[in-house]
Amino acid sequence: MGKVGEAVGGESQMIQTSKLWKKFGRLEALRDLSFSVPARSAFALIGANGAGKTTAIKVLMNILEPSRGSATVLGVDSRKISFHEHRQIGYVSEDQDMPARLTVADYIAYLRPFYPRWDRQLEASMLRQLRLPLEHKIGDLSHGMRLKMALLCALPYRPKLLILDEPFSGLDPLVRDEFMEGLLLQAGEMTILISSQELGEIDGLATHVGFLEEGNLLFQESMSDLTARFREVYVTLENGQFEPGEFPELPKHWLHVRSEGNVLRFVDSQFSQEALGERIRSVVKGVRIVDTQPMALRSIFTTLARAARDGAAQTKGGTR
Ligand code: ATP
Repeated sequence: MGKVGEAVGGESQMIQTSKLWKKFGRLEALRDLSFSVPARSAFALIGANGAGKTTAIKVLMNILEPSRGSATVLGVDSRKISFHEHRQIGYVSEDQDMPARLTVADYIAYLRPFYPRWDRQLEASMLRQLRLPLEHKIGDLSHGMRLKMALLCALPYRPKLLILDEPFSGLDPLVRDEFMEGLLLQAGEMTILISSQELGEIDGLATHVGFLEEGNLLFQESMSDLTARFREVYVTLENGQFEPGEFPELPKHWLHVRSEGNVLRFVDSQFSQEALGERIRSVVKGVRIVDTQPMALRSIFTTLARAARDGAAQTKGGTR
């Protein structure tokens, strides 16, 4: 198992999980989960509701014990994480535990002495940016305000690792933008693990993606590799119509194939310009135009989720 600072595939890993299982009674929430988060990356853990994202994060934070397998965070076994590591980890989750009776100002003042690296300037600029009411009691804050408060408590000590579990849930678009701005101020200086359903938001932040499906990791990949291998493809015929079921032998890595009039449309999950043209011409006659469009993370996710649901085998591009 790699430690922080130890080169694994040329990069040091801030988080590594190895064949991690978590069972709740008979339910297997995590199944043989192995993934690694390279230093200074922003790793997005994505997956449908119930895929196991929160469970994985709770194991990493030593809130839950793994049933089998192991995880290291900052090079330390997740079961042995102590205050020393916690001072280098920022953790923001929806159900963050914060003292309801303290005011925003009092709680920040309470936290500062625990962290030698606490940056008062950063605290002040985040307070301005997030517009948190200093004199309000934490218990009186709205859901969005509480999330912003959690971020404010997690960033000024400049953690090496920031773990965000569904940080956008229930936030209105303006607050989301502000939250993102607060985050992007520091992204790049630290490693981020983020779980989120808001794929539009994390598209601009994530450098790596891990796709969880029913506790299994379907793949982990850099965003650049992922976006390079996915294309929405439109094939227009000279004449005539595509008939449903006309092409039984289409490549398995063509996903979500459908036709409308004389246009055949699909998602190529192993895109290469040369191979695609050749492949299309070998299965479709009378092609007039082939148009390819890059895809946003959200569209890639929905394509993969649909393919997984429909039992398509070729969603993997290899784990990198
Ligand atoms: P969401 O996006 O909906 O938050 P998630 O990917 O974070 O989902 P988890 O919260 O990790 O998913 O849940 C994974 C599975 O484990 C679900 O089936 C959930 O019901 C189950 N689960 C999670 N926590 C517990 C628990 N404490 N006891 C029993 N089952 C649990």
